[in-house]
Amino acid sequence: MLIVKKFGGTSVGDKERIFNAAKRCMEDYKNGHDVVVVLSAMGKTTDVLLEQARDINPKASKRELDMLLTVGEQTSAALMAMALGSLGVPAISLNGFQVPMQTTAVYGSARLRRIGCERIRHELEARKIVVVTGFQGVNKYGDYTTLGRGGSDTTAVALAAVLHADTCEIFTDVDGVYTADPRIVKTARKLDEITYDEMLDLATAGAGVLHNRSVEMAKKYGVQLVVRSSLNDSPGTVVKEEVNVERMLISGVALDKKAARISVLGVKDEPGIAFRLFHLLAKRQINVDIILQSIGREGTKDISFTVDEEEADTVVELLEKNKENITAQSVQCKKDVAKLSIVGAGMMSNPGVAAKMFEALYSARININMISTSEIRVTVLVDEKDGEKAMNVCHEAFGLAE
Ligand code: ASP
Ligand code: MG
Repeated sequence: MLIVKKFGGTSVGDKERIFNAAKRCMEDYKNGHDVVVVLSAMGKTTDVLLEQARDINPKASKRELDMLLTVGEQTSAALMAMALGSLGVPAISLNGFQVPMQTTAVYGSARLRRIGCERIRHELEARKIVVVTGFQGVNKYGDYTTLGRGGSDTTAVALAAVLHADTCEIFTDVDGVYTADPRIVKTARKLDEITYDEMLDLATAGAGVLHNRSVEMAKKYGVQLVVRSSLNDSPGTVVKEEVNVERMLISGVALDKKAARISVLGVKDEPGIAFRLFHLLAKRQINVDIILQSIGREGTKDISFTVDEEEADTVVELLEKNKENITAQSVQCKKDVAKLSIVGAGMMSNPGVAAKMFEALYSARININMISTSEIRVTVLVDEKDGEKAMNVCHEAFGLAE
């Protein structure tokens, strides 16, 4: 078997954890399997590096940020290879250049384009464990790029796909995928299985357990994913196409506190305005989420949408600069909002799910600012102060509690 094992930051946070992870890899290796290990940077390394950068130059270019951040994964990969070596297991670490992991040109949120397999295959044939740096790649200019925060999951799934791995295990500091963040919802329950689609919507809605693009890729290439703890032997959560368990209406609830609402007020009620507005954002690669357009009055209308909180200032600046072009009277920004989502394949065949969610929120006197839905998800925008309570009441209302 070929097994890809990915360890997150806390799972390689110190010497003891590195050895603990190394031993898990060694077990599979000793059982005769080929093992590719993908690593995140140790502990909070990436945050610390970002802090250092901000301290030196808050407007540092994305290229230099990527140059800096890739150091984190390179450190953990080299240390892991050394740990395996000291356990008597032949191992080699490879970074984004050495694999190589080719990506699109954009710094900070590059996408994988092509992965070279020869070197990895060659090292596996020599019976080595191959340790690969997660999160990083190289673009057509020969520069380092990164895949966006949490991107190591995507590196792992991509490698599992191109190497035709039998399984891809994502090791983390929790036991698997939960019905809600157990730090916020005390009665949250671990799921044994979840579908790709549900996991994708949960990950996109802010459940931090997996990078959403890793789930997208796993679905596309049929990579079986297992999310499990690096600290114990419990079986974790399997992410796959179909699940056999009796369907619950809802599989999980996710809260994203990092949302911001932008409102563009008084734009002309005529064709082309939305196009101009969102084209501006698309050109800057800014992701827009819930979009709401009011019914026009006196020839004008308002358009509101949500973006990642970190991009809010950039968006406001950009829109202010282009106010005339988009015919806006004013631009407003509200950062103390949170997105609450319920996700479940069960809602496709059951009407009334959204109503049930709204009822739960109403009973808790929580006001809804915006609403959006997909086939298997309902998302509402609420005030940030209401977010955790909203998550709890929805979790309860759909009977997800333990
Ligand atoms: N080290 C990177 C981060 O903290 C990538 C990852 O952990 O997946 O975002
Ligand atoms: Mg992660």
